[in-house]
Amino acid sequence: MPTVNHWLCVLVQTPAHASIGSVLSYQSPTLLPPGTLVRVPLGARETLGVVWDADAAQATGELDPGKIKAIGGVLEGIAPLNVRWQKLIRFAAQYYQRAIGEVALAALPPQLRGLSATQVQRRLSRAVATAARVAQPAASPSDPEPAADGAVGAAVNPGSGRPPLPELTPEQAAVVAQIDCEVGPFLLFGATGSGKTEVYLQCVQQVLARDPNAQAMVMVPEINLTPQLEERFRTRFVPLYGAAAVVSLHSGMTHPQRLKSWLAAHAGVARIVLGTRMAIFASLPRLQLIVVDEEHDPSYKSGEGARYSARDLAVYRGRLEAAKVVLGSATPSLESWYLSRPAEEGGRYQRLHMPSRVGQVKQLPQVRRVDMNHQPRHAVFSMPLLNAIRARVACGEQCMVFLNRRGYAPVLHCADCGWKSACPHCSAFRVFHKIDRTLRCHHCGLTERVPRACPTCGNVDIAPIGRGTERLEEHLAELLAELRRPGTESTEHPEGLPVRVARIDADTTRLKGTLEGQLAAVHAGEVDVLVGTQMIAKGHDFRRITLVAAVNPDGALFSSDFRAPERLFSLLMQATGRAGRDAALGERAEMWIQSFQPTHPLYTALKNHDYPGFAAQQLQERQQASLPPFSSQALVRADAKTQDAAQGFLNAARAAVSQEMVHWEGWAEVLSQVTLYPAVPMGIQRVANVERAQMLIESPSRTALQHFLGAWQPVLHAVRRTPEGRDVIRWAIDVDPLAI
Ligand code: ADP
Ligand code: ZN
Ligand code: ZN
Repeated sequence: MPTVNHWLCVLVQTPAHASIGSVLSYQSPTLLPPGTLVRVPLGARETLGVVWDADAAQATGELDPGKIKAIGGVLEGIAPLNVRWQKLIRFAAQYYQRAIGEVALAALPPQLRGLSATQVQRRLSRAVATAARVAQPAASPSDPEPAADGAVGAAVNPGSGRPPLPELTPEQAAVVAQIDCEVGPFLLFGATGSGKTEVYLQCVQQVLARDPNAQAMVMVPEINLTPQLEERFRTRFVPLYGAAAVVSLHSGMTHPQRLKSWLAAHAGVARIVLGTRMAIFASLPRLQLIVVDEEHDPSYKSGEGARYSARDLAVYRGRLEAAKVVLGSATPSLESWYLSRPAEEGGRYQRLHMPSRVGQVKQLPQVRRVDMNHQPRHAVFSMPLLNAIRARVACGEQCMVFLNRRGYAPVLHCADCGWKSACPHCSAFRVFHKIDRTLRCHHCGLTERVPRACPTCGNVDIAPIGRGTERLEEHLAELLAELRRPGTESTEHPEGLPVRVARIDADTTRLKGTLEGQLAAVHAGEVDVLVGTQMIAKGHDFRRITLVAAVNPDGALFSSDFRAPERLFSLLMQATGRAGRDAALGERAEMWIQSFQPTHPLYTALKNHDYPGFAAQQLQERQQASLPPFSSQALVRADAKTQDAAQGFLNAARAAVSQEMVHWEGWAEVLSQVTLYPAVPMGIQRVANVERAQMLIESPSRTALQHFLGAWQPVLHAVRRTPEGRDVIRWAIDVDPLAI
């Protein structure tokens, strides 16, 4: 009997920019619906593929039916990925200008690629079985009855005898009600400590209580830095829906853990997925709510492969799934802020405002500015700040000091001959780390022992210039050396123990689990002064910190990156929010800023806790300069052995626009709206002996930019094959880049 074979289009992961494309043709004895996971032969090996729409025009490969290979097998037991997931992938690939196979396969858990069909099935049934076992926890008779019955909380409490929900403040209740009855997308603009997380919790609970199959996704910038959030979701929902109902998805998990979470979400067993940006591509067949916490955080933008913005994709996905989307922040990105202007002015997001802090501490910390022009020339700590820190420590309160530069000193220098600790492979200096006496390049990783003497002239007196967190910690410990911790007097130490200064940054937390330990020490009160980078400014709920100081934040005011002030403002606001969380200490909370420009509008807005004022001023500048959100941008980056080769390739691709594309029929209109700037070296132009260049493309119209990029991509591929492209190592497009 002759077997009837069906042709399938299958997405596979092919090497970037490979000529075969990422949609290949295979045959199969049965017709498989799009979204089915299959194993297919590719070259000498077998690989994971996703059956895609039979759009033969897309597919490449053998056209001779006799030579089309058969698929290797189907991953039985995993339902096909649904149409909405497929649309999300198609959109992301198109918008971010990447091969669709690359985006689709990168969206799946890595371990799926390696497992055979039977192995996957075994894991799947195990995941579902665990879920069935823990899904319905029996209500214990000792559970208290739900209390507040008039509160909004009571309306969504399934009444299964759980601990009562906190009664919402009027602001929170209004926001929860609005999210419930309106369409969105929503931008929740809430001060630090205004209870945004509680709003997320109750929105999620509402959605899940209403529909027994509903799923919700909650995204956070970096899950390792927010274990408290994960904990709050577990505490709230595990008693209601069982341990299997809450799963995480982030890069800190092992491959088996990720697969398990992914399968649980895909099977609908997981009701809540907590994750970092990668979670945006998870398969959630009944997704009804997406929360993006700290939506302004740059880590939602991917820096490799498809350079997608998980926040922007969340809004798109919300539309696809008819799911509500809530973006939350105390300092929204200017893009989201602008999109949430009044509808009459063209706004598309609904802005929800929670200006008040929850609890007894109503007021926000006081911001103090120190004019460094009136301080001794090389002072790191001004006298007023140092005295304030001493006073806090003396009465048992904690301080937090931050500086956005790790290491001991950014450069070592020989005063005799002018030698500096440049990295031989990068256009950057190697940073001096005193703790292990190394010079480390923060760009290529090159690490060497500090030379005993100047490598060029032999002078033994080489000195550090500038300072990083390590030196700040050392310096501060010296300045506080004569202080004793209150209440530590003993016979052994009649005067008490010395003050403890600790540091948290990427260097101290390199080992897994060390961050948790260090944070615990701060919480336990074992640390008096905490020094660190922006890592400590984010999200942690330090109860006994009453003073936060930024010792040298001015750099961002003069940066060439137009987003630097926005980032600085949000970082300082966040840091401010760290102070005075404890009700008893709240009124003493202060944020100190040392600056040579203390009256700069950014600091004035910060002093007034005035994000809207800051945003209005920034948006006005951006509008005058036609910068995002008033224009759309893309960058093309090229790496090559020489800067000439990298720029030459980009400039040749740019020349092709005016030489060839202008002659294409119907393209004049699109091209007239797109500006291509000449190629320039990147900020750090050489890293690990590779020269890097970039070209900015700008348009007042997002649509025009999208059309242009779609058409220009094949031109870039073609130029790569000409002599101008021969020496290029790699190139990539970054749509809506965050760093220019
Ligand atoms: P945000 O996320 O806006 O910084 P949180 O949701 O973390 O704020 O809330 C700050 C603190 O206030 C938390 O300790 C939280 O438990 C508490 N909280 C939030 N909402 C309420 C409420 N309605 N009643 C009592 N406490 C609340
Ligand atoms: Zn020298
Ligand atoms: Zn280097």
